[in-house]
Amino acid sequence: MENTTEALAELLAHARHAVVLTGAGASTESGIPDFRSQGGMWERYDPMEVASMATFLSDPARFWSFHRPRIDALSGVAPNDAHRALAELQRRGIVKAVITQNIDGLHAKAGSTDVIEVHGALDRGVCLRCDARVSIDELTARADAAGDGVPRCTRCGFQMKSAVILFGEQLPAEAISAAYDHAERADVMLVIGSSLLVAPVSGLPGIVLDRGGRLAILTESETPYDDRCAVRLHGRAGVQMSEVLAHLDALTA
Ligand code: NAD
Repeated sequence: MENTTEALAELLAHARHAVVLTGAGASTESGIPDFRSQGGMWERYDPMEVASMATFLSDPARFWSFHRPRIDALSGVAPNDAHRALAELQRRGIVKAVITQNIDGLHAKAGSTDVIEVHGALDRGVCLRCDARVSIDELTARADAAGDGVPRCTRCGFQMKSAVILFGEQLPAEAISAAYDHAERADVMLVIGSSLLVAPVSGLPGIVLDRGGRLAILTESETPYDDRCAVRLHGRAGVQMSEVLAHLDALTA
């Protein structure tokens, strides 16, 4: 197949069980920087330090001084054309599920229904000691009220975190199992905006390929799967996915 948005539309139009896997690049057009690109988050921070379970446990004030501005930065963001196109593909029954490494909630905001958030979500606060849960607004209110910026559990007094998964923390078992299940059933997987460098999600395209499915990747930088793609696109996700939708309209007109 050719590496064109038209070819991607054809691939999706004939799919029996198409599944989408998104990464940080799906949200950069909403103004959220990705992790590994130039100017991405990890040029400025050491992820193992600031976004790790070890720092959360040993130095919660340092952890929260990084985490809190991120929560604020994400509160006003809106979905972009890539999120909207994927929601439309789900509405049409072409895409069966969206597996996302993103924690920004933008797929749901755009109208996607079956979203599998494998790295957690920034929609609530949790206490790891007694399992108490609070809304994200309550979590930030507690952080604001605390002298050291660390929100605490009113039940057991332990420091709280958001439901975003940290380095060194177990991924949510239910979401991972659902992601593997879709990868095993998928005859087409479309990856959008991921460098495919973070396990275990980076193994999902391999499952699809090993079972005879086909892979499409729409991501600006290189990935380890580039030479195994049926369609490989490099442009901006929002622009390209709008084109894919237009081609699908033409195919079904
Ligand atoms: P990434 O930054 O590794 O890759 C993003 C990819 O998207 C890059 O290949 C980039 O070229 C591409 N891209 C950027 N803008 C694009 C656009 N508009 N259109 C098309 N492509 C675009 O992000 P990733 O693959 O999502 O990283 C894996 C995951 O690792 C992250 O999603 C994150 O959940 C996790 N992670 C989490 C933390 C944390 O804070 N807990 C830290 C590091 C990584």
